[in-house]
Amino acid sequence: MDCTNERRKIYLDNAATTKMSEAAIKAMLPYMDGIYGNPSSLHSVGQEANEALTSARERIAKILGCEPREITFTSGGSEADNQAIISAARLGEKKGKKHIISTAFEHHAVLHTLNKLEKEGFEITLLDVHENGLITAEQVRNAIREDTCLVTMMYANNEIGTVQPIAEIGAVCREKGVLFHTDAVQAVGHLHINVKEQNIDMLSLSAHKFHGPKGVGVLCARKGILLTNLIEGGAQERGKRAGTENIPAIMGMTAALEEACAKIDENAVRLTVLRDKLIVGLSQIPHSVLNGDYGHRLPSNVSFCFEGIEGESLLLLLDDKGICASSGSACTSGSLDPSHVLLAIGRVHDIAHGSLRLSLSEENTEEEIDYTIKAVKEVVAYLRGISPIWRDLVNGKKEFITK
Ligand SMILES: *Cc1c(COP(=O)(O)O)cnc(C)c1O
Repeated sequence: MDCTNERRKIYLDNAATTKMSEAAIKAMLPYMDGIYGNPSSLHSVGQEANEALTSARERIAKILGCEPREITFTSGGSEADNQAIISAARLGEKKGKKHIISTAFEHHAVLHTLNKLEKEGFEITLLDVHENGLITAEQVRNAIREDTCLVTMMYANNEIGTVQPIAEIGAVCREKGVLFHTDAVQAVGHLHINVKEQNIDMLSLSAHKFHGPKGVGVLCARKGILLTNLIEGGAQERGKRAGTENIPAIMGMTAALEEACAKIDENAVRLTVLRDKLIVGLSQIPHSVLNGDYGHRLPSNVSFCFEGIEGESLLLLLDDKGICASSGSACTSGSLDPSHVLLAIGRVHDIAHGSLRLSLSEENTEEEIDYTIKAVKEVVAYLRGISPIWRDLVNGKKEFITK
């Protein structure tokens, strides 16, 4: 494969964001042009927009297995996470319940909201994540107390791709009468989800993780759960989220979601082949380790740590070769702290620094994967060749941590 600047980029950072699908773009255009009304207006131009909004709500509800009125449109996954957690906390404190259970490897939209509540006097239990990147329903059961008002746990991890036993955790929460929220931003459009069947009380999703537009998402909340407004103003979204609805984005999200969900099985088969090829190829690099359980992971996720190198240098050199990847989450790259996710699964700092996440989409080809394996091998070897840490490891001055 030719490696010049004119060559199209190999985009392997789909957990950070995805390219919009043609279906999503096509679904948005009429609402930027002809159907520009405000859904709250009583005249016909507004009502046309309102009909679109109603149909989007119905179509998304059908996919998630909930009722249309259980859908609240938000500005994305972060807002949905914030609103779910704050709502459960406000409901809890009215009953004197101020204990929340979560995990140490959640997205910052969850962790920082929990920090805020902790400062207000809530007690937060962050469950230990097993080295394989999984939590068990038993751990959740053992952590639930009389005063627990919420369990919030991500469906699939954005860095290491592990998929949690959400239905089992949901069943434990239901049995104990505790609200259960899941940040399903990495799972929706990629895995089969049904909130009723999986005992999920609240679920967050974000359109730009499944080929929809950025800045739009959904909080799905079971009826009867009183949501707390984060934004005050008009009576949109049943009075729970003020602001004129972003109709073009909502229509794009709906089309993207339908398309992604119709192709879940087909994409999973295709992606698993590419993913496994990458895993096998990168495992050949000495002193490397796969992050996250192999058997319970997203078909799109590959996450490795390479001993003796810095993830940042690896990313820059891969970018020179036309490969867009990530080391940990987008929000932590640029800072020198290793990823909280890798630390949560017990990777020591030295190993966590040398991390690489490759997240696939159905647009990736086998040719791209072959090229990527070759490129990563070359870059890791090059970086080790100039690394003082690697020299110490090879000379026996320092002990290898990985095999
Ligand atoms: C991307 C992501 C979010 C944030 O969603 P935005 O729409 O970008 O706010 C939250 N949680 C997880 C797991 C994510 O991957």
